[in-house]
Formats: sequence, C-alpha cells, structure tokens
Amino acid sequence: MADISAAPVGTGVALPPGGFIPLFTTFVHPSASQRVGAVLASTFLSEGKLVKEFEARLSAELGMLHPAALNSGTSALHLALEVAGVGPGDEVILSPQTFIASAITVVQVGAKPVFADIHYENGNIDPADIAHRITPRTKAIMAVHWGGYPCDMAEIHAIAKEHGLVVIEDAAHAPGATYRGQAIGSISDYTCFSFQAIKHLTTGDGGALCARDPEKAREVFRRRWFGIDRANSPVNEVGEREYDLTDVGFKYHLSDYAAALGLANLDGFAERMAARRALVEQYRTGLQAVPGLTHFVHAADRESAHWLFGFHVENRLEFIRALKSKGVAASVVHDGIDNNTLFGGKRPELTQQRRFDDTQIHIPLHDALTSEQAAYIVDVIRQGW
Ligand SMILES: *Cc1c(COP(=O)(O)O)cnc(C)c1O
Repeated sequence: MADISAAPVGTGVALPPGGFIPLFTTFVHPSASQRVGAVLASTFLSEGKLVKEFEARLSAELGMLHPAALNSGTSALHLALEVAGVGPGDEVILSPQTFIASAITVVQVGAKPVFADIHYENGNIDPADIAHRITPRTKAIMAVHWGGYPCDMAEIHAIAKEHGLVVIEDAAHAPGATYRGQAIGSISDYTCFSFQAIKHLTTGDGGALCARDPEKAREVFRRRWFGIDRANSPVNEVGEREYDLTDVGFKYHLSDYAAALGLANLDGFAERMAARRALVEQYRTGLQAVPGLTHFVHAADRESAHWLFGFHVENRLEFIRALKSKGVAASVVHDGIDNNTLFGGKRPELTQQRRFDDTQIHIPLHDALTSEQAAYIVDVIRQGW
C-alpha cells in the first residue's frame, strides 16, 4: 500500500482543496503530546493504571465486554485462538476478504485457515457458504467486519451453536459498530480490535481482546503477560513474585505511554464517528446514480463503523488513474488473501471473492477529510473515468 498516499506525479495538476487527499490519515488528539509527555516524565512506562483506565473507557464508551488492552490487533487474534484452544490440526473458517493477520495467526497456532466465500455486495463472509466447509476438525469461525460493516452475526452464531464452534470476530475495522443494537465487542466468544496507526482509534500500535466469558477473560489477562496472574502473585520478602506457571503466555500487554495516547484519542470519538457518518451520507447521495459504479449493500439492522468507503467500479484501473491525476487516492486496500502460497493459493471456486477482487475500490475516508474535499471527490468521480 506504499504508493496510495503518494502525491501524483507530473506538473500542472490542479490539486484538490488541502492538497493530495490520501486514503487514510492518522488521528492524534491535540491533548496527546501533553498526556504522553506526563507518562514519560513519570518514568512509569509499562503496563499500569493508564492501561486500566483505557480498558475502563473502552468498556464504558464503546461497549466492549472485558476488554484486555494488548500491543497489537494481531496479538489479539493470536491470543483469542490460543485461549479458545485452537491448535495443531484444527481448522478455522474465515473469509479471504481481509488483511493477512486474520489467517496468519491461525497458521501460527498450527491450525489451518479454511476460506469461505463472501457476499459480493459488501465483502463480508457469506454464512450460506460456511456449513458445507465444516469438518470434524473445525474449531472456530472467524468473522471479519470488512470496512467496519458487521457480518451476519445471527446466522453465524446459529451455525456455530449447531456445530459447537467458537466465534471469533476480527473487528479491527469496527470499533463503535453495532449489530441489532448490540456493540461489536460484546456479542461473540472473542472479539479482536486493532489500534494500529491508521485505524479509527490509535495507540501507535495496540489492540484489545474481549472475551465474553469472565473465566476466559481472566485467562486472557493472565496470558497476555507470560501466564502470570499479576493481581494474585505478590512479591515475597526475597523479592520474588510468587507464582507457578501452568501454561504458555505471551508478552502482549499494552504499555502506559501507549494507553495515554489511546485515552487522548478516545476524547471526541463519538463526534468523529458522527462526522464519518455524515461524510458517508455525502458520498452516498452525491454518487447515487453514477454510471459504472455500484454501491455496497448495507442492512438496516446494523451500523457500520465506516472505516472504509468502498463500492464496485467498472474500468477500475482507469478510475484509479483518473482520481490520482486529480489528487485523490483510490485503492482496493486488500485483495482476497487466499491468493498467498502460505494459505494454499488462489481458490477459483470462491466465485464471489474473485468478482470482488476484480471490481472493488475504496476512496478516502478519515478524520482529516473535510466535506469540501468530499464534495470535490464526488465531482471528480461524476466527471467520469
Ligand atoms: C489492521 C488489521 C489487523 C491487525 O492489526 P494490527 O494492530 O496491525 O496487528 C487485523 N485484521 C484486520 C482486518 C486489520 O485491518
């Protein structure tokens, strides 16, 4: 994705308001440097009270259940699989329309990613393509909310219940999204969030893992720090923490200096989400009847977190070039990841994924995007490509 934020080459190009419009930006709240600076001055950098405060606010303000703050979204996926007991020989069903982190963590625990087809209309896993892929080795379904739009969770949970499977959500794009009135982060056995630099809410790098079951949540907190239950392992007189390691843990905790950035960025989160929604409305209305452009279809029973604004387009390469020449980024973001050799190579039978690969495109949507810029982008697209 290195070139998508690069300025257009050549001279004489009329730049849009504010200059070249990238696909993503990184949001850093104005109060962040003061808050992070205070942590640096305190010299207490590692996991402490700010991590706890960050987790409390994720819970109170975004509806996450038992969130454990971690050092990345990938760590969250890996730890979810570990705590769910997914291991060598097991299979996990997921959609290929995602970033490689979703499937690479499955391989990391020794299990096999099994790809199901997607809805061409929105890029999410198609529940109708899951059941016939279930084998005695299937352990979990991983639902990736592509671009922030929640998957068909009722259908996925019904299948999981029938076959005794664990449901893990990759909600890297979906903090603040809701499904039938319930917050993403409160619905499934495990939900994984990312606080990487270009995601909605950043801690630089970071993530969160929400386990619904309190017992599993306790295991998440223990195994994010080597497998040591910090709260219940007092340091004795000779200076040694008293614990007995019983299973493998990881060094996946978030640190206080990163939590300080996260806390600053949580301020105004709801307002920024509302601004995103307004931009999406502006795009939808402005691009309603553009020949060669087909909008994604979203159901009324769920609210997307709108990390991306995507649609299908004819003559995609010409579309990308036309936008780039006018100072606007456009990108597929990701093609179906099943095409990687590690995951077994491209599956022609995933016909909707292959169609999606050919026509999907995403245009700028981020916290720095102004409605003036969005109007410019609408104009550029309406002029044709
Ligand atoms: C960003 C992302 C991840 C990984 O998150 P990191 O915090 O970068 O480790 C996982 N899944 C999806 C779909 C992502 O977009």
